[in-house]
Amino acid sequence: MFLKGKSAIVTGSTSGIGLAYAKAFASEGASVVINGFGDAADIEKERAALEATSGAKALYDAADMTKPDEIAAMVQRCHAELGGPDIIVNNAGIQFVAPIEDFPVEKWDAIIAINLSSAFHMMRAAVPLMKAAKWGRIISTASAHSLVASPAKSAYVTAKHGLAGLTKTIALETATFGITVNAISPGYVWTPLVEKQIPDTMAARNMTREQVMNDVLLDAQPTKEFVTVEQVAALALYLCRDEAKSITGANLSVDGGWTAA
Ligand code: NAD
Repeated sequence: MFLKGKSAIVTGSTSGIGLAYAKAFASEGASVVINGFGDAADIEKERAALEATSGAKALYDAADMTKPDEIAAMVQRCHAELGGPDIIVNNAGIQFVAPIEDFPVEKWDAIIAINLSSAFHMMRAAVPLMKAAKWGRIISTASAHSLVASPAKSAYVTAKHGLAGLTKTIALETATFGITVNAISPGYVWTPLVEKQIPDTMAARNMTREQVMNDVLLDAQPTKEFVTVEQVAALALYLCRDEAKSITGANLSVDGGWTAA
């Protein structure tokens, strides 16, 4: 339990990749703050399960990643109730797909706010506390779309490229304080979100499940396999180890070879 006594905040951790990060940190004894939207009873069940796993505290904070004041308050709450934060993961994200001429302005603003600016606000609030502690781990879930583009994803690709630049900048600013700042860039990850798209696509395109998986979803991914949330979370856990202290400012791909092509 190498994270015993440490605290972690994971934004957007009520489902998918974020929840897997929270479980991984808890499995090593960290106290965690989970965040995001969803059914209150489901969230409470996950929170209680994290406490049972870690033997440490788990809090839920409903901070909306479009609201800088709520983000700063979540960091202060963690500091007051759990100490730290020792680890922060900027993970909350949304997607919207449309060509530029049809892209709704409010969707652009929301994606830039949630997928990019929230990471700035998280780091702005947490870095002074990490500098004082002389230890910190900052991880952002970027994407293969922080390295390459796809059509009809202007806001998402812009936000993720921005997150990669922000990661490098804050890595340089914190390098002598025992703090590392890295991005993890997954390809297609098997989450409930992806799974739910399959039956609709099978019907719309008259395809089998295998055809939808390989010819639609995994077209860009050379391994023709989804990344799992556990694989992404395992890398985040590694980045928190002392052995990973020289890895900073990196953008680490977990994308089945997508960005090698
Ligand atoms: P998901 O939809 O399962 O999880 C997104 C989380 O963000 C949820 O907990 C949701 O409640 C939260 N969220 C959304 N808006 C929020 C807001 N305004 N304030 C606070 N929380 C908010 O999706 P996921 O697949 O787990 O994605 C997590 C991250 O991984 C995102 O940044 C996404 O861009 C990135 N990513 C996902 C994939 C993939 O294939 N699934 C690939 C690459 C990168």
